[in-house]
Amino acid sequence: GTAQIGVTGLAVMGRNLARNFARHGYTVALHNRTAARTRALVADFGHEGAFVPTETAADFVAALERPRRLLVMVKAGEPTDQVIDEFAPLLEPGDVIIDGGNAHFLDTRRREARLRERGIHFVGTGVSGGEEGALEGPSIMPGGSAESYESLGPMLEAISAKVDGEPCCTHIGPDGAGHFVKMVHNGIEYADMQLIAEAYDLLRRVGGYTPIQIAEIFRTWNTGRLDSYLIEITAEVLAHTDSTTGKPFVDIVLDQAEQKGTGRWTVQTALDLGDPVSVIAQAVFARSASGHTDLRQAYRGLDGPTAHPMATADSNAFADQVEQALYASKVIAYDQGWKMILDGSRDYDWSIDQGAVARIWRGGCIIRAAFLNRISDAYRQRPDLPSLLADPAFADEVTGAQDAWRSVVATAAASGVPAPAFSAALAYFDTLRAGRLPAALTQGQRDFFGAHTYHRTDRPGVFHTLWAEPGRAEVQQS
Ligand code: NDP
Repeated sequence: GTAQIGVTGLAVMGRNLARNFARHGYTVALHNRTAARTRALVADFGHEGAFVPTETAADFVAALERPRRLLVMVKAGEPTDQVIDEFAPLLEPGDVIIDGGNAHFLDTRRREARLRERGIHFVGTGVSGGEEGALEGPSIMPGGSAESYESLGPMLEAISAKVDGEPCCTHIGPDGAGHFVKMVHNGIEYADMQLIAEAYDLLRRVGGYTPIQIAEIFRTWNTGRLDSYLIEITAEVLAHTDSTTGKPFVDIVLDQAEQKGTGRWTVQTALDLGDPVSVIAQAVFARSASGHTDLRQAYRGLDGPTAHPMATADSNAFADQVEQALYASKVIAYDQGWKMILDGSRDYDWSIDQGAVARIWRGGCIIRAAFLNRISDAYRQRPDLPSLLADPAFADEVTGAQDAWRSVVATAAASGVPAPAFSAALAYFDTLRAGRLPAALTQGQRDFFGAHTYHRTDRPGVFHTLWAEPGRAEVQQS
């Protein structure tokens, strides 16, 4: 075979990645369960580069140069296993199967272990940027063996987004590391979107701004430290007017947010790792709460404060406070994500370079932002940074924003406007900042009802108090 890469699964993502490879001078073998898609690709885009269309698995494999590189872009889940079962028997040791679908990292670990026994490299790869990113340059997060990256890496780097000449692609770590990091990316994306939504809601219901005015505010923010793809598209959405009713588009959309599951996976995994990703969790919960029409029906109209838009004279200052609350909360949300990557990397022995993760998210993906440069710089200065808040520049910004941040959270509570992600971020900041936590009382309760023991602040050892006895004597257990 002559093709340097093969793509099977030619729906929107596979088709665009195949075209991206071809545009970069690679010969691309094509395959899809339904051959009509393969033919359509060649008919519509065949002129863009060198394609080798095939219709059977055997022809597809035969079209590839060795070691073979097959990119699987099929629907995640059961179909991925079916496709692996179809192709693996036709492959030889040293060949590489790349799964670019949104697989759960535990599935990727299982698949990688199975294929490794046969000498086949399985590279679970996060791909972010949607349909357009796949064509123009996505952010790519490959896992799998370091050996597989030697031959595959240059090709993936070639088709990835570039920022300051650097590719938005790096070898993340072994087996499921790439899909794990992609999952956390999506969790952070949920948090960022929810924080922006809360900022909008406050600007509208408390600040008294119209959607068009809020679009302008976001455009201004987009020239500063909040400069990001998500802020940019938010302004576009808010400025859009529905053509049939003449109303703001945001007012004619049903207010029930859907999810495909990667945010939920992030939170489920965080619970297993013991990571308090409270802002990401609030974002997932906010989407699910919005969809509970039965609960919303039961609560709707219950007595409580009604937000009153403030006088125009005060709203400019309020908008500035919301910007500060948004920025500080964003730092916390990203810090939670990075901490989760640190812990996942340690638990699964992946040795993930956290600074490199920031670098490859600067372009191509949904959370791309100037902000990622800052995170990347922080890790450049100190590769073992335990938290973004351990970086003096981030610490200064967050502590400097806190008066405004507290004021916005207080105003939200007093006005009856929900701000679960802003509030969770502030509570996280105050929890970790505190000298003493009521966790001491929790330990006392646990010892009282379950003899779960406690440690003392003044001397080593494990202690239990005999709560049922009159003297409540303390006994040292070890
Ligand atoms: P879909 O997820 O809609 O999957 C459709 C493709 O899967 C078609 O090529 C289809 O073949 C193939 N397929 C489905 N079931 C089987 C099966 N049992 N055996 C063989 N082939 C099968 O396509 P997308 O392009 O949207 O996404 C592809 C992958 O990329 C998914 O895993 C998705 O999660 C991931 N992804 C998607 C992003 C996006 O923005 N859409 C972004 C990043 C990742 P056929 O034509 O024969 O039906």
